[in-house]
Amino acid sequence: MAATNDPDPGKLMSSGFTISDGRDDSIIVDVGTTIPAAAIVPIAPTHRHRLRPIEQKPAGTLVVHEIYRSIQGESTFAGLPCVFVRLTGCHLRCGYCDTPHAFFEGAPRGLDQVVEAVLELGGDLVEITGGEPLLQPEVHPLLTRLADAGKTVLLETSGAVDIAPVDPRVRVILDIKTPGSGEAAANLWSNLDRLRPTDEVKAVLCNRGDFDWAVDVVRRHRLVDRCPVLFSAAFGAVGPTELAGWILETGLPIRLQVQLHKILWDPAARGV
Ligand code: SF4
Repeated sequence: MAATNDPDPGKLMSSGFTISDGRDDSIIVDVGTTIPAAAIVPIAPTHRHRLRPIEQKPAGTLVVHEIYRSIQGESTFAGLPCVFVRLTGCHLRCGYCDTPHAFFEGAPRGLDQVVEAVLELGGDLVEITGGEPLLQPEVHPLLTRLADAGKTVLLETSGAVDIAPVDPRVRVILDIKTPGSGEAAANLWSNLDRLRPTDEVKAVLCNRGDFDWAVDVVRRHRLVDRCPVLFSAAFGAVGPTELAGWILETGLPIRLQVQLHKILWDPAARGV
């Protein structure tokens, strides 16, 4: 199946609207770290309210939904204890999203506070997630400080925001939004050219059409030659056994992934 939503590299598929937080240049915060200018994302005026929780925060802070320790569930690090920092806000609305509580709930916290909270929880592995964590430019000094502290840092992102400013020590787990997600037009395809061997690509599949679409993307962009590629089934939509059979048919080294936290705990549970 042709990937009809896959534009030329670097070209944003969008409704034609762009927004930023009004800061055009990078700024320096008191931790001595440069914060890149705010991410520019395509968003329709009718969806602008999605960014309100992070637009109104004090500069130099992060709006944080929760910080907690659990088991990593959706990457090649699955099964390992991990500290999660879930940032507030997302400009997308995937049909299968299991963290809608992170769209608006959260409170501004200083960088020092966030770093201290992570260090207090201990362990070697930390994941910054959301929401869409790259919408808040202060995420970059946070990533750098955690890497400086010797942590293995994972960044889970929608694939709809430029990953170029991310500290190269960070392992990016990049989503590809399928047609079934309802957000395929938001994919920023130039991100695929920025992937390093330590990064990972993930697609959540809602049906067989999504699978065929994602395999086509994997083949055309030679993703299995760049980094690990993971396919997971949207919970309740595609069975893992069914997905296993589809993957085997391709002959590609695509890793089957299950949403581990939904097996370990109540699928609706938070903070796990
Ligand atoms: S990008 Fe992630 S947080 Fe945002 S709507 Fe999609 S699944 Fe939810």
